Amino acid sequence: MLFSVRGKFVKGFEQRFAELVGARFASACASGTAAIHCALAAVDPEPGDEVITTAITDMGALSPILYQGAVPVFADVDPRTYNVTPESIAARITGRTKAIIATHLFGNPCDMTGILEVANKRGIPVIEDCAQAFDAEHAGRKVGTFGAVGCFSLQQGKHITSGEGGIVVSNDEALARRMKLFINKAWPYGEPNPDHTFLALNYRMSEVVGAVAFAQSAKLAEGVRQRIRMARRMTERLQGLPGIETPHVRPGDVHSYWKYCLRVDGAVIPGGSPALGNALKGWEVPSAPRYIQKPAFQCAVFRDQRTFGNSRWPFTLAAPEAVDYSPERFPGTFEALERVIVLPWNERYTEIHVDYVAASIREAVQQLTGGKT
Ligand SMILES: *Cc1c(COP(=O)(O)O)cnc(C)c1O
Repeated sequence: MLFSVRGKFVKGFEQRFAELVGARFASACASGTAAIHCALAAVDPEPGDEVITTAITDMGALSPILYQGAVPVFADVDPRTYNVTPESIAARITGRTKAIIATHLFGNPCDMTGILEVANKRGIPVIEDCAQAFDAEHAGRKVGTFGAVGCFSLQQGKHITSGEGGIVVSNDEALARRMKLFINKAWPYGEPNPDHTFLALNYRMSEVVGAVAFAQSAKLAEGVRQRIRMARRMTERLQGLPGIETPHVRPGDVHSYWKYCLRVDGAVIPGGSPALGNALKGWEVPSAPRYIQKPAFQCAVFRDQRTFGNSRWPFTLAAPEAVDYSPERFPGTFEALERVIVLPWNERYTEIHVDYVAASIREAVQQLTGGKT
């Protein structure tokens, strides 16, 4: 039986994952993109409603907004954490704001306490994009359980993987039901007098994928513990290195280190993060300066509003402010991308790897600054 509705592996994965995160409901789906789409379909915006989010994210977290007929509105980020903040979100709220997507980038939690304060005051649901933040914590609780919905991806590069895959969690029964329906073409399996009750897709995870996801979920906690142990070691090894900032984690938060990022000050290290990335090749240390090369709003889909045929819909419904991508409105976003250098990270890293990478960074910085450090 490879069909999840009649099988046991996808159900087992959902049950175990809900327990791991501490949520009442979980529904597995085809990808992280599908997970975000489910959350939006559950929130059910009117065409032209606005969804506040970040421009430093995966396109899979943005295209579902457009597919649901809503308009992504980009909030700026704190350049030290690369995350949206209560203040940057508040600055973008209008009478048409239907939802907020808070992305815990690289595994570092957003300030969910502050964000919920801003959102709850206006009754706006918050969707947490936890694709990069499995097992991360804020205020003693796992991320994904603060907002109305938490979304996760099991794509190859994430903390746990089934090649492709996703899962949504919620404590809200009505939202959870709507997401489960959305995954199943809005067909309520097993209920009397079923009907396709609204517009929806087939976003199911198959049992083959579910078996892998089920097995992977058992390995999550230990994998994250090791990532954190090695990240702490890395941070210690890099203390005092001029022009280099180690990750900023708010007190009480647990960063689960999907990646380990540094902020490089180009005023101290000539050439900044691209030069450092280039120099690190000399030690065969891989890195990604800038993470994504440009803010999402500079991609053609947003810049040229390429959506359905030549209609430009739903951008045609947007207020001018909502689609104003002037760089001066996003100083934190541009600074974040300019400074960041992303180091790959995984649970197989040991002290030997971390010490080698840290020593390579020290030597590369020394080389770039002409030994002046
Ligand atoms: C990977 C990722 C997604 C999309 O997940 P897919 O499984 O690739 O569709 C969405 N948001 C963020 C932040 C991601 O890192």
